[in-house]
Amino acid sequence: MNVCIVGTGYVGLVSAACFAEMGNNIICVDVNPKVVETLEAGKVHIFEPGLEELVKRNTQEGRLHFTTDLKDGLEQSQVVFITVGTPCGADGRCDLKYVDAVAREVGQSMKSPKIVVDKSTVPVGTADHVREIIAGELAKRGEDISFDVVSNPEFLKEGDAVNDFMKPDRVIVGTEDEESAKVLRALYSPFARSREKLIVMGVRSAEMTKYAANCMLATKISFINEVANICERVGANVTEVRAGIGSDSRIGYSFIYPGVGYGGSCFPKDVKALIGTANDHGYNARLIRSVDEVNDDQKHILADKVKAYFEPQGGVQGRTLALWGIAFKANTDDIREASATEVIKDLTALGMKVKAYDPVANERAREEIGHIEGLEILESQYDVLQGADALAVVTDWNQFRNPDLDRIKALLNAPIVFDGRNLYLPERMGQAGFAYFSIGRPPVK
Ligand code: NAD
Repeated sequence: MNVCIVGTGYVGLVSAACFAEMGNNIICVDVNPKVVETLEAGKVHIFEPGLEELVKRNTQEGRLHFTTDLKDGLEQSQVVFITVGTPCGADGRCDLKYVDAVAREVGQSMKSPKIVVDKSTVPVGTADHVREIIAGELAKRGEDISFDVVSNPEFLKEGDAVNDFMKPDRVIVGTEDEESAKVLRALYSPFARSREKLIVMGVRSAEMTKYAANCMLATKISFINEVANICERVGANVTEVRAGIGSDSRIGYSFIYPGVGYGGSCFPKDVKALIGTANDHGYNARLIRSVDEVNDDQKHILADKVKAYFEPQGGVQGRTLALWGIAFKANTDDIREASATEVIKDLTALGMKVKAYDPVANERAREEIGHIEGLEILESQYDVLQGADALAVVTDWNQFRNPDLDRIKALLNAPIVFDGRNLYLPERMGQAGFAYFSIGRPPVK
């Protein structure tokens, strides 16, 4: 099948490479000439395990092409995927400017029938809105070319995106048109081989499914974080409580790890967007609003622990914190809405120096938050410890899970660890001579 993918970020490039891997001919369009140049040179501009080799192989074998010109892509394809960003607008609602721009260009340039597939996460009603834009542009040209707009939200996780795309839990296709459903079923058949995995539903239900899924996951995180915060106050241990509740098959263990709050390019904006959509339709989404509020507070919890520890010793001003992990989670270079940024901002604002290290996000962090006064980004996990007054662990990278405790102790001014991901056993940290503070578990002093 000939497919055009507009927007080659985490979702677009992964989709493109995986579709190409199955023998389809894919043309990727991006407005950013730097991105297209990089991809044409056989390099990948984002970090995603397994993606580079997939892109390289399919480019070399002539199934994956890159361009900045949407007309090129449109001409050759029956199906056009919109995979551009849908950031949070100033009012918390989803900003559709990039989606609108693509829709306008499609309407202005298409010469033959198309199935336009919205894969970006967009509010309910966006497919109708995209349909209106395309129809309006066609009308301006005096053209009457048939097209359908389908919703096909994406559920991949950064850090495991290729695997998720190749073996999805489900593929959601929102359309009222049988022919569009047939084409999408054919395109996805290598990925969703059992028939039940591809769920066809109404367009609005498909759009809502994406928000409902992300809000459910965010709710689980905020729930366990709230439980952790209560545990700290009543002398309970959230790890034990998690084991106790997760064993109930109605609850389960997944996605109930306490920590420093969720970040990234999806949960924070999607939670806010659904609150906005609900408001627009006269509904006050109280539960989802609380999920958002709990998370906003949780992002400051580690900095608060650092402040509270140093308070009796004259505060954090003039001290240095070593920080492990800047990415919003492990296995990605994405630092959008990362909790580490909040920790860094909170503490540098009080005059603390932060020496940070991330296994893959250092470069992106230098571009996006490198200007923060008091922040220094270094290239080694142990270099940041030299002369620091404490270590804070913010991202759950594997390489932080079993570090050399003796080395940490030797390099730090004092053996103090603030663990925002509960990566270490408190007993072990105590035995190794550390003061150790984690989330929802009794501190080791
Ligand atoms: P991204 O920011 O990584 O990539 C978007 C790309 O679109 C950029 O390269 C940008 O240059 C390009 N672009 C913008 N306007 C364009 C235009 N008019 N024409 C061509 N290209 C254009 O975004 P992402 O993280 O891949 O997310 C894309 C969408 O998918 C969002 O709606 C997001 O919510 C959703 N989503 C993301 C994830 C994820 O884990 N990142 C998972 C599921 C869904």
